[in-house]
Amino acid sequence: MVVLATNLGFPRMGPKRELKQALESYWAQKSSAAELQQSAADLRHLSWDLHRAAGIDHIPSNDASLYDHVLDTAVLVGAIPERHQVGGVEALDRYFAMARGGGLGGQSVTALEMTKWFDTNYHYLVPELHKGQQFSLASTKPLDEFRQALAVGVTTRPVLLGPVSFLLLSKGTDGGDNLDLLPSLIATYAEVLQSLEQAGASWVQIDEPVLALHLDLDQRSVFDRTYADLRAAAPGLRLLVATYFAGLGENLQTAVHLPVDALHLDAVSSPGQVDLAMAEVPDTLALSLGVVDGRNVWRTDLAAALDRLEAAQHKLGSERLLVGPSCSLLHLPVDLGLEPALDDEVRSWLAFAVQRLDEISTLVRGLNEGREAIADELAASTAAAQARQASPRVVNPAVRQRLAGDSTGLEHRASAYGMRRQAQQANLGLPILPTTTIGSFPQTPAVRSLRAQFKSGRIDTEAYEEGLRAYISDAVAFQEEVGLDVLVHGEPERNDMVEYFGELLEGCVVTSNGWVQSYGSRCVKPPIIYGDVNRPRPMTVDWAVYTQSLTDRPVKGMLTGPITILQWSFVRNDQPHGDTARQIAFAIRDEVADLEAAGIKVIQIDEPALREGLPLPEGERKAYLEWAVSAFKLASSGARDETQIHTHMCYAEFNDIIDSIAAFDADVISIEASRSRMELLAAFTDFDYPNEVGPGLFDIHSPRVPETSEMVELLLAALAVVPAERLWVNPDCGLKTRRWDEVRPAITNLVAAAHEVRDGLASN
Ligand code: GLN
Ligand code: ZN
Repeated sequence: MVVLATNLGFPRMGPKRELKQALESYWAQKSSAAELQQSAADLRHLSWDLHRAAGIDHIPSNDASLYDHVLDTAVLVGAIPERHQVGGVEALDRYFAMARGGGLGGQSVTALEMTKWFDTNYHYLVPELHKGQQFSLASTKPLDEFRQALAVGVTTRPVLLGPVSFLLLSKGTDGGDNLDLLPSLIATYAEVLQSLEQAGASWVQIDEPVLALHLDLDQRSVFDRTYADLRAAAPGLRLLVATYFAGLGENLQTAVHLPVDALHLDAVSSPGQVDLAMAEVPDTLALSLGVVDGRNVWRTDLAAALDRLEAAQHKLGSERLLVGPSCSLLHLPVDLGLEPALDDEVRSWLAFAVQRLDEISTLVRGLNEGREAIADELAASTAAAQARQASPRVVNPAVRQRLAGDSTGLEHRASAYGMRRQAQQANLGLPILPTTTIGSFPQTPAVRSLRAQFKSGRIDTEAYEEGLRAYISDAVAFQEEVGLDVLVHGEPERNDMVEYFGELLEGCVVTSNGWVQSYGSRCVKPPIIYGDVNRPRPMTVDWAVYTQSLTDRPVKGMLTGPITILQWSFVRNDQPHGDTARQIAFAIRDEVADLEAAGIKVIQIDEPALREGLPLPEGERKAYLEWAVSAFKLASSGARDETQIHTHMCYAEFNDIIDSIAAFDADVISIEASRSRMELLAAFTDFDYPNEVGPGLFDIHSPRVPETSEMVELLLAALAVVPAERLWVNPDCGLKTRRWDEVRPAITNLVAAAHEVRDGLASN
């Protein structure tokens, strides 16, 4: 018996985002359902071919999805909310209505809620369950995809989201306990497993990522029974339970004693748990060790990985060892081979999904045939690791020196908020309930094409900048006309709020095709931070100064904060994340100083990713919040008293970290609130937030134009917990995904709402 090479899942969008094109063309009614399904099938086939070529033994299927695997699971088990159970519609249209909302059978329905998948930047759709819900097998997707692979000669290992994780990640709509629904769900899963067994599957992978979260005793206790039942349902199948993203902590005992054939552990995020597991594991259980990183792009140090794997092989025997990535490769770009513009040095440090497959199969070859069999690969990997360590490009002595210096005095504004407030009032002269927006205005087809033409060299810098100036001057004219108090330039020069800075900072590279799915067809291209971060020159000052030259009203300079740049990048693994955050913070600090010196009086530093950086293990959260707060303060505290610092956060649960948000000591925070009907305000009732706040008054994700009266009502609700002198009026987030014909009336109504409430306050 030999050690097996495995994979848990592969990127879904295709090497060049082919699925994105196919989906968007179908949604725009430019192609048929059959064409969409064909593109998706071709991409699955391609993925299996890549696995086969790399020599992977356990190749996944059912890891692909047209939108999201949690949504797929809901549909598989028939968990369709009532509003989506419209008769006479195609299953595919129902599926997309659940994902995106919109028209379904002549009605307009809202989508399922979307939320972050653990601590990643992938978003899943939250299934809605109710008391007494009965599940039933309602789709053949896992079976169809298994058969599709079989037809091209690949016996895959189908992937299912585990029943316990499915229930715990879903939302109970009527206060019921989702775990009460487990018996019915297990019966449905049993049918899925039986169908796969009959079709010829020998292994099935069942993901239970909730095992990496803190679980209470009741939650933990259902696992054993669940897996005993599933095993009994399909005795001919071998089951692998997969966990990832963190160590299992107090759930490890439960996991190693599950009545299954194999357990997958993330050995990258928690190397220590492998020894703990090996000390406990019964000899009926195989371990699958995730030693190559599924979430970051650094090439694996094969010799170091092999050391660990050989120890496991020695302890468990080859027949009880599988080797794979730490988690699904969903979170990586597809192929380093598609990066012709990347320089050879940086390239030699990296591995994307395709390269990860090679790493896994190389390691397995080393285990099965001995180190000599992979001598060349080992030598190359060691050489690359050493070269990266020694490269002068990784180290910037000036940045190091600055980081080593005493920075305690740099993390506080000169005066406390009360004093700053007076200085800012004198500097800005704003009315009560000032109005503003979050930064971006519509990314029109014209502005996208302008950037694309510039990038490909079809127009020169002059023509490009001319086009941007025209956009900005239109945006300023609109804002003055509609009567906003603090203006923005609209961000036409930015394709993405992190990528833009990644292109301008030293120590980062931006890829050509390094796309990672964020949700549905939406992908992001995270910069790769490989070395000390330095700002060679100002990044935003010219555009801010140009914008300010067009108006007497204050223009808000717009920056992305250090935590968000870090969180939405692939970050170096050779120093603590907190150190990298501080380097970025120094760069942003210098930008703040330059904006201020150029006459910009209001500066916003966006930190929408603060919450998602929160580590899964509770024990690590305090330290994270400490360095995150300190990085933000380092970035922002150089500003003079009379300069107003704003920050912005959105689309996460903020109530439980409100004290850290307050510790940012930003003069103003604009924060998403409208989707939850201002649920956020509860945090301001319980916690006396000291500075100024703008709870978002309308959801920018919807094309719907909000009425003045709705926003008046929300403002009045906010006034009940935030004093008028500290309340701002703004939307939930940037307006880049909207159209001008939606933005114009929405902002007109927003300003009208502010005036109405101001008048009410004045007459009281
Ligand atoms: N300033 C950014 C914008 O308006 C903020 C985006 C965000 O919060 N994600 O687009
Ligand atoms: Zn936002």
